[in-house]
Amino acid sequence: MPLTRRARILGPLLIGLIALAGAAGFAGYRMTLSMGLAELQATGRHRLDLYTASLEREIDKYAYFPATLGLERDVLELLAGPSNPARVDRVSSYLEQLNQRAGTLSIYVLDRKGQVLATSNWRQPDSFMGEDLAYRPYFKDAVDGGSGRFFGIGTTKGEPGYYLSSALIDNGELLGVAVVKVSLEQLEKSWDLVEAPALVADENGVVILASVPAWKFTTLRRLDEETRRLFDRTQQYNRRALLPLELRQSRRLDERTSLVHLAKSLTEEASVFPVSGQFLAQTQPLPGTAWNLTVFSHREQIDDMAWNHAALAAIGSAFLSILLVMVNQRRLHQRDRLAAREALQQAYDDLERKVRERTADLSAANARLQEEVAERTRAERTLRAAQDELVQAGKLAVIGQLLAGIAHELNQPLTAMRTLSGNTVKFLQRGDIATACSNLDRIDHLVDGMGTLTGQLKSFVRKSSGHPRPVVVQRAVDNALSLLDQRLRRAGAQRQIDMPEAALWALCDPNRLEQVLVNLITNALDAMEGMPSPTIELCGAGDGDRIRITVRDHGPGLTEQVRSRLFEPFFTTKDAGGGLGLGLAISSGIVRDFGGALRGDNHPQGGAVFTMDIPIATGGEDACRKN
Ligand code: ADP
Repeated sequence: MPLTRRARILGPLLIGLIALAGAAGFAGYRMTLSMGLAELQATGRHRLDLYTASLEREIDKYAYFPATLGLERDVLELLAGPSNPARVDRVSSYLEQLNQRAGTLSIYVLDRKGQVLATSNWRQPDSFMGEDLAYRPYFKDAVDGGSGRFFGIGTTKGEPGYYLSSALIDNGELLGVAVVKVSLEQLEKSWDLVEAPALVADENGVVILASVPAWKFTTLRRLDEETRRLFDRTQQYNRRALLPLELRQSRRLDERTSLVHLAKSLTEEASVFPVSGQFLAQTQPLPGTAWNLTVFSHREQIDDMAWNHAALAAIGSAFLSILLVMVNQRRLHQRDRLAAREALQQAYDDLERKVRERTADLSAANARLQEEVAERTRAERTLRAAQDELVQAGKLAVIGQLLAGIAHELNQPLTAMRTLSGNTVKFLQRGDIATACSNLDRIDHLVDGMGTLTGQLKSFVRKSSGHPRPVVVQRAVDNALSLLDQRLRRAGAQRQIDMPEAALWALCDPNRLEQVLVNLITNALDAMEGMPSPTIELCGAGDGDRIRITVRDHGPGLTEQVRSRLFEPFFTTKDAGGGLGLGLAISSGIVRDFGGALRGDNHPQGGAVFTMDIPIATGGEDACRKN
């Protein structure tokens, strides 16, 4: 994958992964927290029930205590009758004994106006004998409702306690109120088993019982001024400072359950359980009282567990996501590979099909080409044959033109031979053997001459192959001149031959080279027809890898019109019967076959000059010697 594309994909993928891990972590945290909280709530509820039950049991122990005083005759008489010091002492003594046995703080009896008539602490200096306690709510409650319960701090000793009061009624008439003050320590005994912080707050929200000593006489809610004034009036808390408990509610789960934070107290003592931090607070009213019991369950473990589970969920989900991404990548990769393979196969099939089609096309084209080549070869062969025929026809035409001269050339020796042979007979008859022999020698010489001529003619007329081979140019020039000898002599033409001493070896067909030379010389003679002293100049020279042969005459030269059509077949300016107009066309074809060129120009000093440019035969002599 390209780098930019990968980066484009990786960015959002990474963000997605982080978001997923975060979400999973959050979900894990919330789930563990809610599960842990549910568990903690169940445990807390169980504790709450347990603490409530034990506290209730403890209070109930004293619930009927004050009412039982109404069964005591002395007490009733003390309340009903006139003041009698002896009876007061007796009742007080009785109450003193009773207090000692019950382990309560104090037991006392008030008359219907709220004045203390007898008390268990009658012998002590801080006795509240004779005190008017009508202002105490427990008195009022007992008078109004038959019984009263009240938590308060004693006015004399400042000792906190739980006051249980009961109206003492005789024959339907309220005689007074009996009060039992129970020590808080007495109640707290029931909390020996407490394994989590717990507190009991009274109806004013003042903590009266707490498993943490520092919490005692703190308030759960802020007290307004009016309440404070009321407390001053009733001296319920004996003017204690009543500072607020450092408790902050973070979330309320239901009416009686909330998540709270307890601040670390400076005076905090060593405790078996944590007393500060995050807690689940569960509250329930204490039956038979206006109090509420609150149990605090520490959340630290749940929080730790929730964070651990969150981390686990985040890591797990990240791992799972990476795994899924990898699996998906692998799947995509495989799919791509499969697609690529299919595309490749498709391309291969297409290619194969195209190759098949092209091969078929090619085969067809090849067949056509072969056919064309064959056709062309056939045509070339035909052309070559036609050309050969043409060359041959050209030769024959030349021979035709030379025929008169040749006949003359042959006639002359024949006539001479006839004369000589007749003379020879006569000399033989005379017995002049020597002269006869001389005649026969001359005849032999003449026959040789005729043989040479016919041999030259035969060789000229012979059909040649046209295949190039090393040829001595001088020899071809001699042969051509020899063939035209009669014509040259008749025309009285002079020959000027300019050839190098050394043989010029050309790569060509000797017979055809002679034919071209015969043609050019014949044309030169034709051009100079009727001139008093016609001259033909024949030059040959080597030039690098070429040989140049020129045939120049001193005739009228070439007009522009003639020059432009010089090599056209059947172009002639000669009279009917004078020429076919094929000589130069055939000659130029022959020279071209040699790999050379033939051109006709006017000589600057007059007359026409034909130049033949043909390839040189390197190592011609060696080749010839070998032949
Ligand atoms: P032919 O000789 O049968 O006419 P050629 O092809 O040999 O055919 O020559 C074509 C024509 O070129 C001649 O008719 C003549 O007009 C012109 N020609 C050829 N050679 C010469 C020359 N040496 N001088 C002037 N004209 C020439």
